Amino acid sequence: MDYYSSQISNLIAELARLPGIGAKTAQRLAFHIINMPREQVEKLSQAMLSARNNIHYCKVCCTLTDGDICPICASAKRNQKTIMVVENARDLAAYEKTGKYEGVYHVLHGAISPMLGIGPADIRLKELLMRLQGEVEEVIIATNSSLEGEATAMYISKLVKPTGIKVTRIASGVPVGGDLEYIDEVTLLRALDGRVEL
Ligand code: ZN
Repeated sequence: MDYYSSQISNLIAELARLPGIGAKTAQRLAFHIINMPREQVEKLSQAMLSARNNIHYCKVCCTLTDGDICPICASAKRNQKTIMVVENARDLAAYEKTGKYEGVYHVLHGAISPMLGIGPADIRLKELLMRLQGEVEEVIIATNSSLEGEATAMYISKLVKPTGIKVTRIASGVPVGGDLEYIDEVTLLRALDGRVEL
């Protein structure tokens, strides 16, 4: 039996497709949305649509941005010769929050995972290699310390080493399997400062 009208069921079903949203939360959110002022619902749906329509990958570092080139890559204050490789834009944000890193980034949008069928060609590695043809002094590999993150780090280090560019890996101490975005700033900075050459 359908307890709710099909419109409500539809909203619940759509919300339940979001990551981390179970059936109960979807139901709670749906009823919350229905009771929100109409303008607020409009603002929410507009924000979702315009973000989806206008955000794309930075032409240089592949992070999400609404310009051709993201503000970090465009900044004259950043050291463009040091590239920190991260798995996703949330990890980039975690390092940016420390306010201490002066280099630039490269966002892979994933990690190599044979188990999930994600190979080197499925993440933004080709773009990284292209950048290495420019003036680069160091590549800091800051992928997660999960199995996938480590496999990706190994793969990148093998690619970069022949170019003669210094390759470093952020220090472990970052909990195994831990997502960078959940790690506090002090730990992140310690991992960065303690990076070792591969
Ligand atoms: Zn960029």
